[in-house]
Amino acid sequence: MKVTVFGIGYVGLVQAAVLAEVGHEVVCVDINAERVEKLNQGIIPIYEPGLTPLVTNNFQAGRLRFTTDAAFGVEHGLIQFIAVGTPPDEDGSADLQYVLAVAKTIATHMNSPKVVIDKSTVPVGTADKVKQQISTVLTERAVDIPFDVVSNPEFLKEGAAVADCMRPDRIIIGTYNEQPIDVVRELYEPFNRNHDKMIFMDVRSAELTKYAANCMLATKISFMNEMANLAELLGADIEAVRKGIGSDPRIGYHFIYPGCGYGGSCFPKDVQALIRTSAQNGYTPKILQAVEAVNNKQKYKLPTLVKKHFGDDLTGKTFAVWGLSFKPNTDDMREASSRVLIEELWAAGAKVHAYDPQAMEETQRIYGVRSDFVLCGTKEAALQEADALIICTEWQQFKAPDFDFLKQQLKTPVVFDGRNLFDPERLKQKGLQYYAIGRGQSV
Ligand code: NAD
Repeated sequence: MKVTVFGIGYVGLVQAAVLAEVGHEVVCVDINAERVEKLNQGIIPIYEPGLTPLVTNNFQAGRLRFTTDAAFGVEHGLIQFIAVGTPPDEDGSADLQYVLAVAKTIATHMNSPKVVIDKSTVPVGTADKVKQQISTVLTERAVDIPFDVVSNPEFLKEGAAVADCMRPDRIIIGTYNEQPIDVVRELYEPFNRNHDKMIFMDVRSAELTKYAANCMLATKISFMNEMANLAELLGADIEAVRKGIGSDPRIGYHFIYPGCGYGGSCFPKDVQALIRTSAQNGYTPKILQAVEAVNNKQKYKLPTLVKKHFGDDLTGKTFAVWGLSFKPNTDDMREASSRVLIEELWAAGAKVHAYDPQAMEETQRIYGVRSDFVLCGTKEAALQEADALIICTEWQQFKAPDFDFLKQQLKTPVVFDGRNLFDPERLKQKGLQYYAIGRGQSV
């Protein structure tokens, strides 16, 4: 099938590559000319496991093309995906300007029937606005071309995006009528062979499904962080509690890890957007408000522990920070807890030696060159001259360090672990003072 994808970010690029891999002919359109040029030179602008060979192979096979030429993109596909960003507005609601700009572009250039599929995460009622936008432009053009608008929210996880798109748990399709169902079924047929993963519903329910899913996941994290803070005060170990509750199949082991707060481009903004939607509809979403408040506070957990240990004035101190991306296997730094930590350390006068397996370039782009910041080539190099180690992201390569080497490198043998990677007893035996999340008093 001929498919066009507007927006070549984490969602658009992965989705486009996966669709091309199964044989669809995909054209990707983005307004970011530099990004398009890089892709046409074989440079992949984001890090996702497995993405580079997928993009390269399909680009070389001619099934995946990149352009800034919107008219060409609109002409190409019967299916037009909208996969552009929906960042938070000043008041926390989702900013729809990019989504509606794409709708306008499609309407401006279309000369044949189209199925417009919205993959961006958008508030309930956005499909109505997209539909309205397209109708308005078609009326202005004095043409009558049939089109459908479908809501098809994306559930991929950054860090596992290719695998998630190749083998989705579910494919949510919201439609106004039966018209586009056959086209959408044909599009996703290759991903639907094992069993039927397609769940059809009305458009508004599909739009809300995405927010409900992300808000539920964010709730699980904030709930566990609240339990962790309580465990700390009560002298209990949240890791024991986690295993204890996870053994109940009604709760399960997934997504109940305590830590230094959730980040990324989705949970913070989607929780905020649903709070905003609730307010606009006269409803006070008490759980969501608490989820957000707990998370905002949790991001200060590591700097608070550091100051508790070293004092509020950190002038003359240097900290090794392992992990900058908001979670492992991505280079995405949006709303990452590491940013709150690093900025708090700087504000207190400290220097930071940081290392991340993938997010160094992005960190450099965000913070530029600073005298109180060194981006180190290895995790070991970050330890040199550091007073203590702070772990922000649970990359695999941080999980089994040489503790003797670590102790030898650090000026004071202290580890602050925002992801509970280690056994407190082992660190105690190694002579390291260990602060973690919700694990009783530091040892
Ligand atoms: P992103 O910021 O990585 O990419 C968005 C891209 O859209 C950019 O390359 C931008 O240049 C492009 N763009 C903006 N306006 C455009 C226009 N008029 N025409 C063409 N291109 C345009 O965003 P993302 O992380 O891929 O997220 C996209 C959407 O998917 C968001 O609504 C997000 O909430 C949702 N989502 C994201 C994830 C995730 O893990 N990142 C997961 C599920 C859903």
